Parts: sequence; C-alpha cells; structure tokens
Amino acid sequence: MPPRNCALCNTARAILKRPKTGQQICKECFFYVFETEVHNTITEARLFNPGDKVAIGASGGKDSTVLAYVMKALNDRYQYGLELFLLSIDEGITGYRDDSLETVKRNQQQYDIPLKILSYDELYGWTMDAIVSQVGKKNNCTFCGVFRRQALDRGAAMLNVDHIVTGHNADDIAETVLMNIMRGDIARLGRCTSICTQGEDTIKRSKPFKYAYEKEIVMYAYFKKLDYFSTECIYSPDAYRGHARVFLKDLEAARPSAIIDIIHSGEAFEITDEVKATQKVQQTCKRCGYMSSNELCKACTLLEGLERGMATSAITDRARKRLDAEGPGPDNLRTIPYFQRGNTAPSSQVANG
Ligand code: SF4
Ligand code: ZN
Ligand code: ZN
Repeated sequence: MPPRNCALCNTARAILKRPKTGQQICKECFFYVFETEVHNTITEARLFNPGDKVAIGASGGKDSTVLAYVMKALNDRYQYGLELFLLSIDEGITGYRDDSLETVKRNQQQYDIPLKILSYDELYGWTMDAIVSQVGKKNNCTFCGVFRRQALDRGAAMLNVDHIVTGHNADDIAETVLMNIMRGDIARLGRCTSICTQGEDTIKRSKPFKYAYEKEIVMYAYFKKLDYFSTECIYSPDAYRGHARVFLKDLEAARPSAIIDIIHSGEAFEITDEVKATQKVQQTCKRCGYMSSNELCKACTLLEGLERGMATSAITDRARKRLDAEGPGPDNLRTIPYFQRGNTAPSSQVANG
C-alpha cells in the first residue's frame, strides 16, 4: 500500500492514527492540533489573566510532564503572560516518588521553570510509607488524596501563586463521572466535570487537559521524546477506580467518542437546590486553620486517627522528634498552620532553574 498523506496538511506522510478522531496524520500536525485544542480549552474557559502566577502540579508522570511542556509552549506562543512554577508533592513512597521526583528535577532544568517540593513528612509528620505500615494497603489512597489536595494548596500559598493547574485528563474526568454515578453521589457528579474549582479565599485550580485523551498525551510525550516517569505507585491504587477505568477503556475501544460523551453527560447534570442545601458552611479547621466544613479539616481528622494508633505505628523520626518537643496536650498542633499567601516555611525549598 502506498504511504498515505496526512489528512490535515496533505503534504507530509501520515505516521500516526489520532486516537480521538481516527485521522491518519503527520507528527507535526498532531503536535499542532493537540496544542491548539488545549489552547482553545484554556481560552474558552478564560482560565488565566496576564500576569497570573501559575503552579503546575508536577509528579514526573506523563500527564504533568506533558502539561508543563505544553503550558510553557503556549505561554510563549500566545503570550499568556504567565509566570510558571513546578510544584511537587513528595508523599514519601520509597521506590516510587523518590524516583519520579528525580524526573521532575530534570524537567526543571529542561524547561527552566522554578521548582518547589513539599513533603507529607514536613507538613504532617507522616510519610505514606509510615501510613501504609499503620493502616495497611486498603485505604491508603484516601489518606493520600486528602493530604495531597491540602499539600498543593499549602505549596501554592508558599509560592504566592494565584492558580494551580493539574494534569487531570479527559479519561480521569470520565472515570470520575462514572464512579460518581455508580456511587449515587449526585453532588460530586455536578462538580466533577468543572474545569475550574475555587472556594472562598482559596487558590484557583484547573484542568487544562480536561478534553485531552490519555492516549494522545502518551503519544505526545513519546513523539516529543519527553523525559517522564512511567512506573505505577507501589501501593495499589483505588480498586473501584480501576474497574471504572477498565470499563471506560472498553467503551473507548468500541467508540472513541465515549470519553467525551461521558464528560458531556456529566456536564449536563444540574445540581438541584435540594442537593445544594445539604452542602455545609465553610469554616476553618480548629487545628491547622485550613478551610473546612467541619471543626476539623479532613486531613486533621485522618491525622488524629493515625496519632491515636501511634503506639504501634512506624511514625517517622522527624514527627517523633516534633511530638517529643511539643509534649502532650489537646492544643498540641502537629500540623504546620495553614500558611498565609506569600509566607514561606523555613524548611521550604525553592530551586530556580
Ligand atoms: Fe497516593 Fe494511592 Fe496515588 Fe499511590 S496510588 S500516590 S498511595 S493516591
Ligand atoms: Zn500534516
Ligand atoms: Zn486541619
């Protein structure tokens, strides 16, 4: 069969089949359409204003590595006027996060974007290794998810940024829609497709890859020869999400538009006033000052549980020292208070490229 020409430029040879559309296209056209779609997502949702300071949540994995690369390229090409940072959270997972953070450090050099790394150990006194040794491998992702969300906010406050962008892609969002349907969680279903979330006084968060397919992100990283870390976390990820993922991949194989269709279905759900009325009033956590809808924020509630079981736990040396220094007592704040924007923690580390 003679080589086929690219369906978009009709001059170069087609070397790939685009997962989202099935078009046979050339490499340069693929880069261009992928980047332009992300640019359109950004401009249609009016995600940024000139002069914004934006932190890219960077794990060293494919999504955030491609996000950092594309954000830098679009910021230059379309003159968004953004000041970009890489923000990484070190969950303290030996043999996984320590290696992926090495990738982020190389990305910092390659893309010349300042990097800040913040660890669960320094924020909470617990690494995921210590948490798993206490709670086992069943609920570890619940702890990790709650801690990561707060850690990103704290890191962003330290960097004094206006906005955090994360590498969540269309597959992730479609999976979340499916999971919320399967759990009957209508309140979350209404929120989970939003490209942008922002509470009072909190840092804006958004997902520029909301409509980018995971397969295309992998393809982009591959053809651009980007340096990323592809190993899975050693603590098995959320099993329920795994089922949603397998189901979604089956649907995608039968009909590639399934991913976008599910996102659109999720978007079409409206939250009724009745559901909204059950949402709680925002306050601040008594223990750490982070925003919360209860007396204690989710992270502090989890930490209290961990600390109660401390006698048998493998708590980290650093946390043990801190607890010994503070002594017992109900007002003993073991988490670092929520930093005001612009303040920096003494142990924070910002490296400039
Ligand atoms: Fe954390 Fe679970 Fe992700 Fe591992 S798989 S990094 S434990 S959320
Ligand atoms: Zn082409
Ligand atoms: Zn708290």
